[in-house]
Parts: sequence; structure tokens; C-alpha cells
Amino acid sequence: MPPNLRVAARYRAATRATEIRREGIPVVVIGAGPYGLATAAWLNASGVRLRIFGEPMQGWDTHMPEGMFLKSVPAASSISAPEPGYGFADFRAAQGREPVGDLYPIPVDEFIDYGRWFQERRVPEVERSMVRHVQAVDGGFSITLDSGEEFLAAAVVVSTGLAPFAHEPPELRGLAATGRTSHTCEHRNLTGFAGQQVAVLGAGQSALESAALLHEAGASPTVVARAPSVLFGDPPQADLPSARPRSTRLHKPGSPLGPGWSLLAVSRGAAAYRHLPTPVRFRLLHTVLGPSGAWWLRERVAGRFPVLCGRTVRSAEPEDGAVLLELTDPGGGSERLRADHLLMATGYRVDVDRLELLEPTLRQAVRTVGGAPRLSAGFESSVPGLYFTGLAAAPSFGPFLRFVCGTDFAARQLAASVAARNR
Ligand SMILES: Cc1cc2nc3c(=O)[nH]c(=O)nc-3n(C[C@H](O)[C@H](O)[C@H](O)COP(=O)(O)OP(=O)(O)OC[C@H]3O[C@@H](n4cnc5c(N)ncnc54)[C@H](O)[C@@H]3O)c2cc1C
Repeated sequence: MPPNLRVAARYRAATRATEIRREGIPVVVIGAGPYGLATAAWLNASGVRLRIFGEPMQGWDTHMPEGMFLKSVPAASSISAPEPGYGFADFRAAQGREPVGDLYPIPVDEFIDYGRWFQERRVPEVERSMVRHVQAVDGGFSITLDSGEEFLAAAVVVSTGLAPFAHEPPELRGLAATGRTSHTCEHRNLTGFAGQQVAVLGAGQSALESAALLHEAGASPTVVARAPSVLFGDPPQADLPSARPRSTRLHKPGSPLGPGWSLLAVSRGAAAYRHLPTPVRFRLLHTVLGPSGAWWLRERVAGRFPVLCGRTVRSAEPEDGAVLLELTDPGGGSERLRADHLLMATGYRVDVDRLELLEPTLRQAVRTVGGAPRLSAGFESSVPGLYFTGLAAAPSFGPFLRFVCGTDFAARQLAASVAARNR
């Protein structure tokens, strides 16, 4: 397009965007998990007209196993709201339950109840529809719901969580058709594996806890980990951080992500993280909180079932209704492992291209780095008015954004940016 026409088109789009804002057309938040709910609470407080869509806490209710406990401590498991009274501790107090500290692993069902309690009080306007389609139109976005309703949005906040980014190693994709492989996010209930041999791939909390739950459900798991050993956290020395010896607090200061200076730095420095060189950001994202199990998981794993460390999967093939894995170790040795099922606890990788609810040309218009959207300090992508939060924002703002404790930083910044745009 010639430069003068491009300028005219940009001018028309900007004028239309201003008209859209003046007409009181809503900002749309997609997803009602911790990040969507916190964003909506903060947008409400900023006086922004919004519509939020999704089934509250559905990500936790359908993509996490029954019987799971949170790895994050109660003090780091609150969804952010602009006013006090909506934290996890407030929820427990409202239920007549006693206060709890770092030694209390939160059962997943309790956390889901907390999220719904938060939603009912702080974001009652959640509409229980799924957004099917988002398309850029002159100065705004056209939204289509699964009910068929179509309307215009001034801005869109994508807070659709982890599930769209579930990562399956490419070398295992060939097995998908056998129905003998799955990602951990596909299971709410692992008891159906009772009596089966299950190879669990991974060394993080999800792998170790899934293997423990499988074992306790009567299955025979074998963990296969690339790492030379599996790691577990240390139990806190006291229930409250303030009760720990001063030397411990100096050596390993407390942070929402756990004790340690590096964890404190990424928790406090989320805003600065964006300015680090790209290779450093990506390295820190994967190394600062490397794979490990919670302290309370150790006794449910150690000695209970085989954990094969330092192994990579060289090949995987179907064999007589089972899966045959060929594993190699760093010394070049190899061994075979036969399993009825292969469970991939292989994490999540942000890739805008996998967000099918964004129409293809809109996805292509989002500037990305390593598949993740490049975001401004206010969580806005290169497409004006299109925002991303939660895991999709972690490559920009660091590992803090992978956890519920990041909702405070994210929702404040994002709401301020949207409100400024809407003025
Ligand atoms: C096994 C496991 C254990 C974890 N443990 C912890 C922990 O202990 N502590 C912690 O802080 N974090 C933990 N996490 C990370 C945690 O899941 C995230 O921090 C948190 O859920 C992110 O919130 P979210 O709102 O971004 O995403 P989600 O909670 O995934 O919510 C996204 C929501 O968007 C909805 N949605 C998706 N598409 C659409 C659509 N088209 N229309 C409408 N709605 C849509 C989904 O249904 C979902 O409800 C864990 C993750 C996993 C996988």
C-alpha cells in the first residue's frame, strides 16, 4: 500500500477506535481463571465497561488431577483485588476455618472453591459462555460467542490460561493416534489407570505428583526424567516466614515463589524483566524455577516406584496395544521400557499461533519472540487493544506470571493501561 494510503488507513482506524471508546463499547476479558478474574476486578475498579466470559475456575476443575495439592503456599495463593478482603486467608476466615501458614498444602478443591467465592463476590458479572472467535475490525474487535452472539469490543484481554499451550515432544506425536499417550492436562481423574503400567515423562511437580497419584490409585508408574536426579524442596523451618531464624532469612529471603535471592529478584523485578535481553529472559524463565517436587511430595515418591533419571526418549512405538520406549542415558547406554500408557508431564510452551480463537490474520499481526507475544509494560501486544496475561505474559515479565501470586502485578498494570487507553 502506498505510504499516503497507509497513513489514511491508520488515521481512519484511530478515529474509529476513539468512536468505539466513546460509544461505551466494552472491553472483553476472555477466561475466568485467576488472571481473568483479577483483571476484571481491577478493570471494574477503574470504571472500565467490561464483559468477561468463561466458566469460573474451569482450568483448575478440568485440567488438574483430583487429589492434587498446590505447590504454592497459602500466602502466595491469593487472587488480586483492588481492595482488601478477598485473599485466600479471607476466604478461609469466611468459611470459619482456622488460619494456615506455609506448612499447609492447599487441596486443589479448596482452591477451586476459593476462586469461585472470589468470583461470586468480586466479579459476579462473569458470563458463562465461551468465546469462539476474535477478529480485528476497524478500530476494535468483533467477538463471536459459542451461543452465536456477535458484538464489538474496544479491547480484548486474552487470559485463556495454560491448556492451549500444553507441550508434547514432537518425537511422540506419532503415537497420538494409538490413544496410548496423553498430556497431564487432559486428566481430571487418574484412577482409570488402576492396574496399568504408566510411563510418566518429566521431572517437575506435575510429573512427580501425577506419578504419586497413579501409584496411590493402584497403577504402576515409572518416572522417566532427563534430569540427572529429581529434586524436592526443603520443608519450611516454621509455619510463618517471620518465625524463621534471622540467618536463614538473610541467606534465603522469603518470596512468593519460595525462599532464595533469585526468586525474590524475579518476584520483585517483574516490571524490569521485560528489559533483559531476549536470550537471558528465556533462560531465566526455564532455569530460575527448574523442575522440582514440593517438600511434602518426597515421601509419596521416594522408594515407592521406579524413577529413571538421566534418560531421554530416543524412540517410541506402539507394540501389541502398548507403548515401547527406547531410552538412552548420558553414557550412551540404552534400555527399553514397555508401558500401557505414556503420560506426558512435559509442561507448557507459549505459542500465539496455537490460540485458535484469534482469527489467523490477527494471530499473524501479533509480533512474537519465540512464539510468545511481545508485550508493552501495560501487557498490550503489537496489535493495539489486544492484551495478553497469565502464562502468555511470562516470557515478557518472568516466572512470577506463571503463578497465581503474579495476578496482583499483572492486573494492576493491565487495568491501568486499558483505562488510560479508554480515556
Ligand atoms: C498441575 C498444575 C499445578 C499448578 N499448581 C500451581 C500452584 O500450586 N500455585 C500457583 O500459583 N499456580 C499453579 N499452577 C499454575 C496455575 O495454573 C496458573 O498460575 C493459573 O491457573 C493461571 O491462571 P489463568 O487465569 O491465567 O489460567 P487458567 O486458570 O488456566 O484459566 C483460564 C481460563 O480460561 C478459560 N478459557 C479458555 N478459552 C476460553 C474461551 N475461548 N472462552 C472463554 N473462556 C476460555 C478456561 O476455561 C479457563 O478457565 C499450576 C499449574 C498446573 C498445570
